[in-house]
Amino acid sequence: MSKLPKPDELLKDLDLHKTPEKHWMDIAPEFKPGKFCYAVEPQVMEDLGRPHLGKWQPYDEKWPLPDDWKERILKGIRDRMERFRSFKLFMDICVRCGACADKCHYFLGSGDPKNMPVLRAELIRSIIKGEFSFFGKLFGRMAGARPLTEEVLKEWFYYFYQCTECRRCSVFCPYGIDTAEVTIIMRDLLHELGIATDWAMKPVRFSHFIGNHIGLQPHTIKENIEFLLGDIAEITGLNIEVPINKKGAEILFVTPSADFFADPGIYTFMGYVLLFHHIGLDYTISTYASEGGNFGFFNAVELAKKLHAKIYEEARRLKVKWILGGECGHMWRVWHQYHNTWFGPFNYMDIPRSPITGTVFEHAKDNKIVHICEFTADLIAHGKLKFDPSRNDHVIVTFHDSCNTSRGMGIFEEPRFILKNVCNNFVEMPENTIREKTFCCGSGSGLNADEYMEMRMRGGFPRANAVQYVNQKYGVNTMACICAIDRAVLPTLMKYWVPGVEIAGVHELVGNALIMEGEKERTTDLRYRPLKGMEEEV
Ligand code: SF4
Ligand code: SF4
Repeated sequence: MSKLPKPDELLKDLDLHKTPEKHWMDIAPEFKPGKFCYAVEPQVMEDLGRPHLGKWQPYDEKWPLPDDWKERILKGIRDRMERFRSFKLFMDICVRCGACADKCHYFLGSGDPKNMPVLRAELIRSIIKGEFSFFGKLFGRMAGARPLTEEVLKEWFYYFYQCTECRRCSVFCPYGIDTAEVTIIMRDLLHELGIATDWAMKPVRFSHFIGNHIGLQPHTIKENIEFLLGDIAEITGLNIEVPINKKGAEILFVTPSADFFADPGIYTFMGYVLLFHHIGLDYTISTYASEGGNFGFFNAVELAKKLHAKIYEEARRLKVKWILGGECGHMWRVWHQYHNTWFGPFNYMDIPRSPITGTVFEHAKDNKIVHICEFTADLIAHGKLKFDPSRNDHVIVTFHDSCNTSRGMGIFEEPRFILKNVCNNFVEMPENTIREKTFCCGSGSGLNADEYMEMRMRGGFPRANAVQYVNQKYGVNTMACICAIDRAVLPTLMKYWVPGVEIAGVHELVGNALIMEGEKERTTDLRYRPLKGMEEEV
């Protein structure tokens, strides 16, 4: 791993107004350590039955491309232009107004013009013009066209893995051009040759063969859950059970696997468990569909479909009525934005209905999944939960809208409603950095690799900047979020830019505040930190 510059050094030379000396087509990407992810190991692709380039790394001068690589890529472009109307439109309608130019966190953090969304899309648009249009072939660069070369392929790899598919640019584009969709298609296209990143593909293999990103075996999941239940018993005095692989349960609960084992996701998991016990929910967790996240989505559509379908097959096997989804970002986007196109409605489950309030979640009639924040907000609105928000008084909390749940699905109010019920101190970050204008964590879409740390810190800078503002002005010490990638990457980002700010799941704070029947007096929160006024007791 490369040496990461200190925060005050990182943005020293950043000049967003600098005009490059050469035309963008003449500037080749430099694969500097910290700015790209390592190539996928061939065995990973072989296991998944995918093409690969053998042993290689992006910084190799000559990539081991197959002889027919160009034909395969051109055929792939043609195929996608026919299949995806959105892609064809996005390639046609950009008017170069520049409204998106300064909206990408990677441009703001790197100053690299090719990270402007308008230019990122131009990386493929110029090839379509150069290879398929008579006008483009005739006038070449004057018409914004260029031929497909190995250098172009390297550039695609570099810049389409410097886009977190966050869609912030699309909010500001007057034509709704969605560069995230372009990135998704471009990574899918690179897969035609087996060009992919290791950090993102290993979770796909594990999810495909075992059921979750890091390959947790059923007994390990069970043991981890028992360990967390031990902590709950110590903190609350309650002995709670979590049903696992229970056939005929009413609800299948699917959450990102990081909630089973990784700090701080485990505290969110403890919050879910306390909530379900509080309301006596008839649910089960599956050790086979033990992953809400879908890293296939960041790589290739066919892989995403496979991983998605697996969860529904498990729901069928367990004969549940519907699915409750934990705090995950891209799981939510995949399930809501792509599900029906891929599979249409699954009719062997019921339209989700809360067994506690009777609310029917009509919007989930096709995919049969409800987000935990919708579920909990509904319980609160019906007065079904008892809280002591003072148990979160050691926390001054702000909320990070995850790109996928906010821009992707419009979940803006539910988490805020929950937080305001379980915490006495809630502060919003500046308006142009939240809700649909939220800034990405900087490491989404499978870019959470250690070798990519410099770009992660650069890309996360706009988010961190807004946190720093509320930290200094209001003493914010916690940022809540509803995405497992955020919970995994934001602690590193905060440590780098805004030390002292912790990351929490919304349901961790719910778990702290819930007044459980039969519990002992609590002296700590779910992380064993003393509650306000209990410092002496702990
Ligand atoms: S989707 Fe996000 S990361 Fe990608 S170009 Fe747009 S703003 Fe940048
Ligand atoms: S805002 Fe839209 S139309 Fe304008 S340059 Fe960006 S992508 Fe093109």
